[in-house]
Order: sequence, then C-alpha cells, then structure tokens
Amino acid sequence: MTPTPSFRRARVAAAVAVVAALAGATVPAAAASAAPGMREAAISQARANVARNAGVFGFGTGQDLVLKDVVLDADGASHVRFDRTFQGLPVVGGDLVVHQDAKGKLKDSSRAAAHDAAVKSTVPKVTAQSGAAGALAAAPGVKEAVSTPELVVWAADGTPRLAWRTTVEGTGDHGQPAGKVVVTDATTGEQIESYDAEHQAVGTGNSEYTGTIGIDTTAKSGGGYTLTDPVRGHVTKDANNLSASSLKAASGTTFNSTTNVWGDGKKFSSDRATAAVDAHANTAWTYDYYKNVHGRSGIKNDGKGATVFVHVGTNWDNAQWSDACFCMMTGDGDGTTDPEQVDLDTMGHEMTHGVTSATANLRYSGESGGLNEATSDIFGTMVEWYANNSVDTGDYLFSDQSTPPWLRRFDKPSLDGRSADCWSSSVGKLDVHNSSGVGNHWFYLASEGSGSKTINGVTYNSPTCNGSTVTGIGNQKVAKIWYRALTVYMTSTTTYKGARTASLNAARDLYGAGSTEYNAVAAAWSGVNVS
Ligand SMILES: [Zn+2]
Repeated sequence: MTPTPSFRRARVAAAVAVVAALAGATVPAAAASAAPGMREAAISQARANVARNAGVFGFGTGQDLVLKDVVLDADGASHVRFDRTFQGLPVVGGDLVVHQDAKGKLKDSSRAAAHDAAVKSTVPKVTAQSGAAGALAAAPGVKEAVSTPELVVWAADGTPRLAWRTTVEGTGDHGQPAGKVVVTDATTGEQIESYDAEHQAVGTGNSEYTGTIGIDTTAKSGGGYTLTDPVRGHVTKDANNLSASSLKAASGTTFNSTTNVWGDGKKFSSDRATAAVDAHANTAWTYDYYKNVHGRSGIKNDGKGATVFVHVGTNWDNAQWSDACFCMMTGDGDGTTDPEQVDLDTMGHEMTHGVTSATANLRYSGESGGLNEATSDIFGTMVEWYANNSVDTGDYLFSDQSTPPWLRRFDKPSLDGRSADCWSSSVGKLDVHNSSGVGNHWFYLASEGSGSKTINGVTYNSPTCNGSTVTGIGNQKVAKIWYRALTVYMTSTTTYKGARTASLNAARDLYGAGSTEYNAVAAAWSGVNVS
C-alpha cells in the first residue's frame, strides 16, 4: 500500500495554539453605459449595412456573419465586430468591423484580410484524414497527441482556399497540457501555418499568505487563462470538496479566468481561486528551490510537474501528497482558526514527500517515518527561507501561517506537547509527526546552534540533550548536507543512527572530513542523543 504522507495525522491539540491575428480596428473608449436596446439596434443596423455594402465588405453569396463584439461610444456611435462563415465554414481572416454613427449610418469599415474573403467556388468534397496526419507531423513537441481537424476557409493571405485547421492536444515537456494548431491546404496538404494553442503568461495573484504576486499561467488560444504552470508543469485544480481518498489526477476542475487576475487575498475566501493562487505559487517556489539550490528538476527529477488540488474535503485541516495520484491535496482548514492549508512551508512539506518517495523512500513508520516527516518539515521550511517573502518570512516554525501560531517548531519540538527533542530507544514508537522532532531539533542545532537567539523577530531557545554547546553553520549548508544524505546515502529503513552516518558522509563529500561543517553536523547529532 502506498502511504500518502500528510503534514499531520490529527491536528495537534490546541495547536499550541484563434484564429489568425486580428487586424485591430482602432476604437475610442466605450461609453460607461448604454441605454437598453442600443446594442441590439446597432447589431441589426450593422448586418443591414454589410448587406447594403456587400462590395465594401467582400460579402457575397454563401456567406454569413457571426457576431463577436459590440463597442458603443458615448456619442452613440457603434462598432460591431463579426466573424464570417462561407457555406457554414469559418473564414480565417474574414473578420470585419462595421463602424456606424449614432443614427446607424455606415461611416467606415475595418477588415482583417487584404483579399476578398469570399471563396468564389463551392466547397469541394475533401476528407479530414489528410489534414489530421499533416498536423500530427507538424507538432512533434506535443506528446500523447490527439488531433481534431476542422475544415475552414483560409482567407488570411493569398487567394481564399479550403484548409484544415487541426488542433493537436497532448502534453508538453513538463507534463502540462500542451497543444498546437496546424493549418494545412486541404487540396495540396501543404502547411500554411502552425502556432501554439497555448502560451506562457504571467498572471496577478492576490494570495492569502504572501500578498499580491506574479504567477505563471497559461493563455489559451481561444482566449482566457488557466492555472497551468507551463514553466514547471504544475496544474492547480479545484477538488470541489471531494475527499482526498477519492481524488485522482483527472478529478476536479481547472481554474479559468478571462483577466489573468486571480483571487481576492482573503483567508476563508468565498473566491475559490484565492487558495489556488497560494497553492500554485508556493508549489512553484518549491520546484524552484529544488532546481536552483539542489539541481533537482521536479519531484522525480524528470522535469515533470504535479497536480495540485485545493478545496479538498470539508473542513479538512490537512494537506497530503499521494504517489499514486502524483498529486498534492490541500484542505480548507478547520473553518475557524486555521485557514486554507496552502502556505509556503506546507506546499514545500508535501512536495518534499514526493521527493523522498522518489529517492530514499523512507518507510512511513518507526524511526524512518520520523526521518521522512522531518525531511518534509526541513525542506518545507527551507522553501520559506528561499522565497524570502516579506509577509511570510523565513522561520523555524512549521505551518505558522495556516495553523497559527504554529503546528511544530524546530528549536525545542517538545513545546507542542508531543514531539521528541531527544533520541531514545522508544522514539520510533511515536507518531511519525512527533518522532520527527529529533530530526527537526538536529537541523536547528546544526543551523543556528544551541541557546537563545532571535531571528526575523522570532525568539528561539534550543537546548541540547547532552548539555553541550553547539555552534551552527547556517541552514543553507545544513540543507545541502541533508539533501545529499537523503538522495545519496539514506534508504527505506534508515534510522536516526543511520541518518547521522548518512549526513556525516554527505558533509565529508561537500566540505571535507573534519571540516567545521562536518564537526557541526556531528555535534548537533550528539546534541540530540544520536551518536
Ligand atoms: Zn508530512
């Protein structure tokens, strides 16, 4: 059975508290509001104007207008935009704008194509297969591709002719949804053009925990945006309150926006995209932390992104990683004190469970289970330090934003009332979220040293279990040592004693045997009774 590690088993008591480019018509600012009926009148006048001025618009037999947009000016002038069809087929490059005065009189026209959009002949019989085959060959970057051909009239350049516009949809380099649109001449099979069906965009996210931030999103060729990260391959979805146990990667719904502005920045928000902003951004921070600090490209080091679910369950005050689903799942908190479980260290913690599964695969019980949890706490916290956000600052408190004031802490883990500060022969009998205390305490001692210290406004006081004084070497060095220990030396059954050996091997590799760093790692382990 595949474990689905979460960041807590139970809440700690008291929580211690397209188409071708449109030639743009220049239009003046629209009126703030228009009288009812004006829009409808403008549309019917525009249709009549096109029919009366067929020569101006290249509008002939077999053609039809499809309304696209209406702009009404303050002075009553109107600008009515149409796409057109020929014998029912979309005409690429056939779009036009009818400019009318307040009385509906034609003033001017704008047309996309340099040539008449009318296809002079009737549509010959052509089959779809030729178009589809050509399109697949023209979209080599799209894997597991499915192609959907559509017959169109190509009138964007040259003599209007029949063409296949084929949408090829599949997955891109990072496992994210990706697509290409390929247009081929229906008679000759020659490629006319191809373009990405989606492209990278930067949206504005009003997050719960880190203020207003830029987020990587995807612009769809048909308009609008989705919370798909084309850089890292993550897709953030709404679980629609399905429970974690019933979720699969294909479950839920994608987030869409017409504006690429997401969320309202509030906790417990009724805007479901708000938690998605944090989950999307903080998974990206985690991905970037692993890539830029440790040279690891994604959870499996294969450059692929994961699915990230928000709004899992009802009042589910938890988050979880699932290997089976290759998904992160986040709940909405307890509905009172704990908001949505999507803050930086939480997302870092869950994605790290995926990294651990893909490397040492520490068994999720006994001492190895404690090491598994400590690893997620350590790198979750390091993501917070890496993001260097002024709202959610770096600290040695875990889940301090989504479980205020904190769920666990590193300097003296026992302050939560359950976690172990020091190793003992019975520590492996504790819940993995509490036996992790020994590892978290080691990480703090190795990073910051023993005794009292105020960091970013938070006061810590870390004891040692053997009465020694430990001098820290900074969390970046300790994290590098721990990452190498995890990915090179630890195995599924590593115990705390084994973790000491693994991290000393890693410190020796990185900084040399007997180096300051090597000695600090050893002293910190002795300080938590692991020798
Ligand atoms: Zn966990």
